Amino acid sequence: MTRSTKDTPITVPVGPATNFWWAFQSLNFRHVYFDGTLWAPLKGAGGQRVASWETLHYVRPGDVVLNFKSPAVQGISLVSTLPTPAYPPLRGYKEPADTNGMLVLTEPLCEVRILREDAYRILPPGRGPVTAKGGSNNGYVYSVDRDAALKLLHHAGLEIDNRGDKELDGAWSSEQYLGGPSDTWALAAVRTEQRFLRNQQLQLRGSSCSLCGRSYPDEFLVAAHIKPRSKCSEGERMDTRNVSMLACLFGCDALFERGYLIVGTDGTIEAGRPGHGQIGDHLRYLFGRSCLAHDERSRDYFAWHRQHHLAVEANTP
Ligand SMILES: [Zn+2]
Repeated sequence: MTRSTKDTPITVPVGPATNFWWAFQSLNFRHVYFDGTLWAPLKGAGGQRVASWETLHYVRPGDVVLNFKSPAVQGISLVSTLPTPAYPPLRGYKEPADTNGMLVLTEPLCEVRILREDAYRILPPGRGPVTAKGGSNNGYVYSVDRDAALKLLHHAGLEIDNRGDKELDGAWSSEQYLGGPSDTWALAAVRTEQRFLRNQQLQLRGSSCSLCGRSYPDEFLVAAHIKPRSKCSEGERMDTRNVSMLACLFGCDALFERGYLIVGTDGTIEAGRPGHGQIGDHLRYLFGRSCLAHDERSRDYFAWHRQHHLAVEANTP
């Protein structure tokens, strides 16, 4: 997933509109860097605004993040998604699970080691992460001066791949993502989001399909939306832990998505649309089993799925 600069040279795609960000991270570095999350509450505990949290609202796909954990910048990430309202990711954040916040997903590009004193010789004082006296600002995400950021990347042994923003646009906006009117997300964003949701479900529930209950290698499990994002309210979309589940690629994901099976009020897998032939065999194995992802927090999403597919079936001549 991540590479080291000791291998072949790693290139960082940079366009004229690429912005650079510095994220101060602590013990949570390994989780947030590899899980690819930047998250901050919307408000402080006393309801106050926090400038270095609100910086996150201006981060855009294609931007470059320098992940700092004392004493060095230890990772470089590429931003994959627009900021989106979300409760805190499962790993790496200490706030209560129902804290309103903003989430940006990133792809780890490579691990690096740029010591703070080397970085602060290059970064202009009094801007971004550096105080006027040359110390560290006490906060989370800061904008980094472009020329200084490019020097830092060069210092870390990375190569800059200068691209026009048109080329970068192609990488980010080739597919409309249905998360909301302003969410023109790319295939890359969808992939990153899928990876984030799947990792979170794997951490929550282990490597079992929530429908058939079988254990599979992670690559055969996907995060299946119980209720599609496009149908979710904003509050529901924030609820990333409960609005999706793990389903295997050996039929369960497709059968659930197409409504051949539904999950009843008590969590039992039941018949949805009639399935014939080989589909019927697979379905008979599943009917009567308990869905592992069904609980108090997910029951309303399963209810939506059940009612939606039963209504579709009732209206099919
Ligand atoms: Zn399965």
